Amino acid sequence: MPLPSPHPETLALHAGWRADPATHAVAVPVYQTTSYQFESPEQAANLFALKEFGNIYTRMMNPTTDVLEKRLAALEGGVAALAVASGQTASAYAVQTLARAGDNIVASTDLYGGTWNLFANTLKEQGLEVRFVDPADPHAFANATDARTRAYYAETLPNPKLRVFPIAEVAEIGRKQGIPLIMDNTAAPLLARPFEHGAAVVMYSTTKFIGGHGTSIGGAIIDGGNFDWAAHPQRQPLLNTPDASYHGAVWSEAVKPLGPIAYIIRARVVLLRDLGGALSPFNAFQLLQGLETLPLRMARHCENAAAVAQFLANRAEVARVIYPGFGGANAELTAKYLPRGQGGLLGFELKAGAEAGRRFISALQLFYHVANIGDARSLAIHPASTTHSQLSPADQAAAGVTPGYVRLSIGIEHIDDILADLAQALAAAG
Ligand code: PLP
Repeated sequence: MPLPSPHPETLALHAGWRADPATHAVAVPVYQTTSYQFESPEQAANLFALKEFGNIYTRMMNPTTDVLEKRLAALEGGVAALAVASGQTASAYAVQTLARAGDNIVASTDLYGGTWNLFANTLKEQGLEVRFVDPADPHAFANATDARTRAYYAETLPNPKLRVFPIAEVAEIGRKQGIPLIMDNTAAPLLARPFEHGAAVVMYSTTKFIGGHGTSIGGAIIDGGNFDWAAHPQRQPLLNTPDASYHGAVWSEAVKPLGPIAYIIRARVVLLRDLGGALSPFNAFQLLQGLETLPLRMARHCENAAAVAQFLANRAEVARVIYPGFGGANAELTAKYLPRGQGGLLGFELKAGAEAGRRFISALQLFYHVANIGDARSLAIHPASTTHSQLSPADQAAAGVTPGYVRLSIGIEHIDDILADLAQALAAAG
């Protein structure tokens, strides 16, 4: 990008790309290729030995995906990124880059259900323990830490509770012990800036607001370049001891000449190489299309959600509205971490309970009834009868899901149409 800019509106359109060197195409082409012709046997050997960086095979890198990675890193204020097949892949690799069997990480209890399953069951079966703590007390992270703790993990704006996470408070506790904080910022791209508060890694389900149009599954991990891995050899062995799969390379040393990117390089050349959760170039193209208008869309998501929250708060059928902009007990954290807008998500509870929740969802005409968030269209779901239906009533309550709770992801339609649909559905729910 010829003109450096601190502005997301400009970075979203220009970072990482000017024009195609071969054809001068302005739009990023879809490089739908599996492999790349080597210039010579020497160059091929150098690429494989990581003596030279370049395209080898699309499982590990692709020119379309590369632009997405550069743009995401620039927007987040990080040093480098890795785009992968889904948000789930991003969560798994973000952790597995640092932790292996016998190790543990400490995670917030306020997590997306898919992440919860990955951590509580699948990683556990592989010998990697995840210790869940309530983020209401940041010191709970310190209390759950031992010599084998490799990372802390949390979501900036977890739904359905929508309780903003204390990023700086937990990042600082970790940094004292050589433990990086990994933040899932899926619900708050551009709104929250986890690196500015001490997080070391940011990950996304790019499926949501970043793609924004409900067309493509994707994920990304961004390296803040702000964590000194070499200073903590005991705490971070995977980045500080010889890697048998790369002729004994010690990542914190080997990568030093390229910048502070040891973490994201290991994620790419070990995890992505071996587990293969690569993003398709076509999805990278779709996600880039989404990213170009993200600043405009996020502003409208926030504006519309604020209006919906106000509208619902004034309705007799509604017992309470869960919206970060209303702050409540979490007002200080919301002001600190979401000063640019409080996002497009909100929840509300119907006084008449679960049955009314189901009637409300059935009556919606504009809103889609889907298990997704962050689409340009408005979306709704009744967690008690869908996403959280397998949980006991006690576990539902702990997750913030009461029988009458309805979750909304507010889109960018005209606000009058959104409110009209909600009003008629509330009337129909009785
Ligand atoms: N993280 C959060 C906060 C999510 O909401 C989701 C999906 O809903 C994921 C991760 C997983 O992402 P994906 O569905 O792209 O695998």
